Amino acid sequence: MVLRVAVVGGGLMGAAAARSLSARGHRVTVLERFGPGHDRGSSYGTSRIFRLAYAEPSYTELALRALPLWRRLEEESGQPVLTLTGAVDHGLPRAVDRLADVLAAAGRSAQRLSPGEVAERWPGLRADTTALYHPDAGRVHADDAVSALLKAAGQRGAEVRHGVRVTEIRHTGRTGGGVTVVTDADEALTADAVVVAVGGWAPGFLPAVVSGLPPMRVTQEQPVHFPVPDALDWPSFIHHPGAGWNMPGGLYGLGSADGVKIGLHGVGQVVDPDHRDRTPDPAAVDRLRAYAQEWLPGVAGTEPVPLTCLYTTTPDEDFVIDRQGPVTVLAGFSGHGFKFGPAIGELAADLVEGRPGTARFALGRAAPTR
Ligand SMILES: Cc1cc2nc3c(=O)[nH]c(=O)nc-3n(C[C@H](O)[C@H](O)[C@H](O)COP(=O)(O)OP(=O)(O)OC[C@H]3O[C@@H](n4cnc5c(N)ncnc54)[C@H](O)[C@@H]3O)c2cc1C
Repeated sequence: MVLRVAVVGGGLMGAAAARSLSARGHRVTVLERFGPGHDRGSSYGTSRIFRLAYAEPSYTELALRALPLWRRLEEESGQPVLTLTGAVDHGLPRAVDRLADVLAAAGRSAQRLSPGEVAERWPGLRADTTALYHPDAGRVHADDAVSALLKAAGQRGAEVRHGVRVTEIRHTGRTGGGVTVVTDADEALTADAVVVAVGGWAPGFLPAVVSGLPPMRVTQEQPVHFPVPDALDWPSFIHHPGAGWNMPGGLYGLGSADGVKIGLHGVGQVVDPDHRDRTPDPAAVDRLRAYAQEWLPGVAGTEPVPLTCLYTTTPDEDFVIDRQGPVTVLAGFSGHGFKFGPAIGELAADLVEGRPGTARFALGRAAPTR
């Protein structure tokens, strides 16, 4: 049955859902409050890490599902969106061992390297523990990926409308009862189902629409780019805290068109996405500069260029991908959702079509005890 589906939010997750739904023949309308490629949410910029390695195997499975879907998007759009450069994990041995175990169980290759071997292979990086190199990792070209997904949705008949803010979603709670989506121009669109993918606006928007949301913290995160000429040759990397170096959440990095990007995971200030000061915090830049001086000889002498971006983090850092009546929710991507984009689009389309979701991502799931 062909469904009329409204998608609220045209960041990565809304774009991925729109593409999957339109590819399955549904009639899709995407409503995005800002312009194409805007920089106020979570999906803009040149790069995000792609990797299969996760401590939790179900995320490895999801990344394995995403990998061929990214490649298919490249074929369809003629736009490169994923470059595999490999990844290096180092730091806390327990964390690195766990990743090696999960990759081995998934039948994927990985290699242990001594600190000397890391320095020989990537002179820009320094490790002081045995590292894990895994080749199935790299960067997703973030802006290009979102625009390719929206373009692919458009080619399958989706209508993509920018500059339209949704102010209200009315529904009876019954699947099959339909929804009315009201915009800031007082337009009322009717549809069979709605997908809500509003990123950092979820905690303000969703409680009026669905129940059972986990609490979500919206924070302004502040990575930096070191514009070195060989940036595109760098692998992605994660420094796991706890062995000789300790920063809560750890540090990630990768090469990108803007330089070598590094950031601390989830340490930013809580913000209101509509009223945040996007001025970079000099103390946060100093922390990353100091890290680079100690651990990244390859960016020595280069001034970091900061940017700000939103994380929307659940207590367990697991996503919310679930349906209640005619409303499908994509939220709480906790600073690690990008790599899975097209796989999340498929999960969203499954939910809209009435297939069951995944317990890990459910609304109303038990709060974590850890
Ligand atoms: C600094 C940083 C680094 C990251 N690094 C990685 C990484 O290396 N690897 C990885 O996998 N992930 C990473 N992530 C996470 C990833 O980028 C996010 O999980 C993903 O972009 C979330 O997409 P989204 O569509 O949920 O949110 P968004 O991109 O914010 O999209 C939500 C959209 O909804 C729109 N909207 C909101 N309210 C309304 C409304 N009422 N009406 C209409 N439109 C509305 C917004 O304008 C916005 O465009 C990182 C995130 C950040 C911030």
